[in-house]
Amino acid sequence: MRLLLMGPPGAGKGTQAEVLTSKLEVPHISTGDMFRKAIKEGTELGRKAKEYMDAGQLVPDEVTIGIVRERLNEPDCAKGFLLDGFPRTVPQAEALDRILASTGRGLDAVLNIEVPREKLVDRLTGRRVCRACGATYHVLFNPPKAGGVCDHCGGELYQRSDDTVETVENRLDVYERQTAPLIAYYRDKGLLQSINGDQPIGQVLVDIGRGLGRDWV
Ligand code: ADP
Ligand code: AMP
Repeated sequence: MRLLLMGPPGAGKGTQAEVLTSKLEVPHISTGDMFRKAIKEGTELGRKAKEYMDAGQLVPDEVTIGIVRERLNEPDCAKGFLLDGFPRTVPQAEALDRILASTGRGLDAVLNIEVPREKLVDRLTGRRVCRACGATYHVLFNPPKAGGVCDHCGGELYQRSDDTVETVENRLDVYERQTAPLIAYYRDKGLLQSINGDQPIGQVLVDIGRGLGRDWV
């Protein structure tokens, strides 16, 4: 299955993807995770991406499209994939169509997780991520069993440097300006499904399953 998870920052894409990747048995491809890994490893890509990410801006299309093209051509993507956080602009969506068409592929569905903007700031500023395995928590809405420690691997939880109030507001503005137009792009192609993301994490997952015709309640 070739799926795209859309929605504003904080909608719950990464949280749902953590479960969906194993249920659907396809790789989870998050451009944000790829950039953060490059920053941690101190690569040229990481150096380029960091200044944009810290400012809450999008990394330039040519850079982002390049890494996704490479990733989608890796063998594990032959059986499908779950894209999270890409595309974020119309040129990225057009490039994705070309990349997939070049190997006779297309998207099966685009799931747009909807959450009102006023809820997103609290979600993002309270987010904590495991340094070791990348699992996502929230200090109030999805807390770990033991404070500051990952339930899955015991890794240390940290706050992303772009999850501060100032950067978050900027990221939400960028989303509305540059990414929200993709909703119409995929609706016109008949691929869009709206998911109510303003409900408990487990219920969002159930709704996604229903949308995909899978009853995994
Ligand atoms: P995204 O990947 O879309 O930016 P995340 O999955 O990282 O969003 O979720 C953002 C924050 O909101 C995290 O702290 C996560 O634990 C929390 N969260 C995710 N889904 C929900 C939900 N349905 N209700 C409340 N909090 C949620
Ligand atoms: P995310 O982890 O999806 O919240 O992304 C974190 C940051 O990485 C974003 O605010 C952007 O700076 C950058 N980023 C991630 N995906 C993309 C993309 N598709 N296009 C441009 N920048 C991106």
